[in-house]
Amino acid sequence: MKVYNDFSDSRFGGGCAYCGGDEETRDHFPARTFLSKPYPENLQVVPSCYRCNNLSSKDEGYLAHILKNFGKEKGLPIDVDDIRIRRVIQKYATAHYKYELGAAAYSGQPQRINCAFANQMTDGEFEHFEQVISNPLWPEIGSRLFQRSLTNEDGWIIVQKDNYRYYVHEGIDMVLVRMVFCELLFCQAIWHEEEE
Ligand SMILES: [Zn+2]
Repeated sequence: MKVYNDFSDSRFGGGCAYCGGDEETRDHFPARTFLSKPYPENLQVVPSCYRCNNLSSKDEGYLAHILKNFGKEKGLPIDVDDIRIRRVIQKYATAHYKYELGAAAYSGQPQRINCAFANQMTDGEFEHFEQVISNPLWPEIGSRLFQRSLTNEDGWIIVQKDNYRYYVHEGIDMVLVRMVFCELLFCQAIWHEEEE
């Protein structure tokens, strides 16, 4: 994974990337529980408050347990706790948004979150999910997404092969973040520009 200069970090605004509260620590994402050793160097970080940093670790552990124990062959448990999984997706999507775009775009929670396990998706849905949408406009100058687009590396970003990858797209009035955990859970979060 290529590392980019931190031009956009100064624009985080000094607050927690998730709730806007005090910046008390730095939150690494994705959590190591989703990755294998040796861990990739230079994992991404965003500023976070202690509360947001701690709040999700139980949910992340829960999702990691599901992904490790119920693989493609074995199928999934019937009583998956959607709410816990969605909390992880929302947190990660928000972190990728802030990391790739700085604080420049829309704030708040995503308006839409979708997720599906691999065995729930059709071939057509996979194809659609993998598509990289060409950017109708340049991302903000200095943002990581801008730097990636200059070098044509603005498609899927592989944090660790087979374990975690993501994709951020900034449209005219929307931002979309897609994430894949262990090639088993496929997630999407969308923010729309809100009317003032
Ligand atoms: Zn917070």
